[in-house]
Order: sequence, then C-alpha cells, then structure tokens
Amino acid sequence: MTTITLAARMGGAYRMKAGQTVRIENPYGTQAVDAWALADDGAETGDGTVQYSSMEHTRSVNSSIYVDKGLAVMGMDRRPLFTMVEDTTPGHHDTQLCPCNGPLYADLDQPAEHRSCAGNFHDALSQIGLAMPFTPASLNLFMRVAVGPEGEVLRQLPEARPGDHVTLRADRDIVLVLSACPQDVTPINGPDCIPREIVLQFSEAA
Ligand SMILES: [Zn+2]
Repeated sequence: MTTITLAARMGGAYRMKAGQTVRIENPYGTQAVDAWALADDGAETGDGTVQYSSMEHTRSVNSSIYVDKGLAVMGMDRRPLFTMVEDTTPGHHDTQLCPCNGPLYADLDQPAEHRSCAGNFHDALSQIGLAMPFTPASLNLFMRVAVGPEGEVLRQLPEARPGDHVTLRADRDIVLVLSACPQDVTPINGPDCIPREIVLQFSEAA
C-alpha cells in the first residue's frame, strides 16, 4: 500500500495497472476531487488522442447522471476505465459540471494565477511527460449537484463526513488524474470555502 497526500489546491497524475485500486479519503468531508483517466494501454480515440474518460459516454452507458458504487467511468469506446468499488459517502458523485477553470475564476474576479482543476489536470500530466490538447469533462467526486424539476442545476453543499472515502479500481492500465479542487470563492468545497488536502492509498499493482 502506498499512501500519498494530495495537497490542497493541487493535482496529481498516477499510473495504475488493471486491477489496482486507489482509496480516496476525504479527511474533512468537504473537499471535492475532480477525476479523469487516460488509457495507458495504447488505446486511442481515432481523433488524435488517447482514450480518455468521457462523462457523456459514462452517462449514456450507465443511464445515470451520477457515478455511484458499482458504476464505471467509460472511455469514448464505451469500455470501462475505472469502477467505483467502494463508497462510504451518500453517493451521487457529479458528472455534469465542468472542472473549474481560468475563465470561471476571471468571472469571479480572481487573479489570473488562481489555481483551477483544469490547470491542475494539464500540470499533472506534464509532470509525467503527457499532454492533452483539451480539458475533458471531469468526474467530480464528493461534489453534490442535483437537478430540479425544471432541469435546474442545483449546486449543493458536500455531504461526505470526515474520513469518508471512495475506492476506484482500474479496469485497464490507466493514468488517473486527480485535482483537489481549489475553489475558494463559492461553497462547493464546504461553507467555509477552504480547499483542503485529500489522502490517497494505492494498492500494490498485481
Ligand atoms: Zn475545481
């Protein structure tokens, strides 16, 4: 077992072998974690990139707007990249909202250097020598976004408790990218708007 603390506001990219798991613990219960996966088995989309986690395909295959225990996140080939095999939270992890990004923080009157989940995605990939030409939609772990009766997108406070965690299992060789969301203007990371670290525990590769 390898334990890594992902610092508040930061991202990381982690190579995982098929069958390997990562336990993502939310020590304070309030922190949203944006997640992506890229295939690390040579699979490509046909559009010039490696297979990547597609929230559109995930919602289509699962017939759900949420990712919950037992559901997988798909590539554009509709094949699972990883599956959520454990979840101690109330569930309903968001797939709808884009990762926070530079233009969003500009609209919130934040300085250009404000960190974002989109920026963390590209920074984390570059640290292991990879790049993507765009920012895919993210799976937003621990983030609560409901849909109202008229289709309203309802941003809610996180409902995880301190120490709650999810466990993801790689279904093929992947690069998992995680971002401890730096949002500190709106309360998506809790009513005190303080981004916090998360703790990762990787099982040994089989
Ligand atoms: Zn974010």
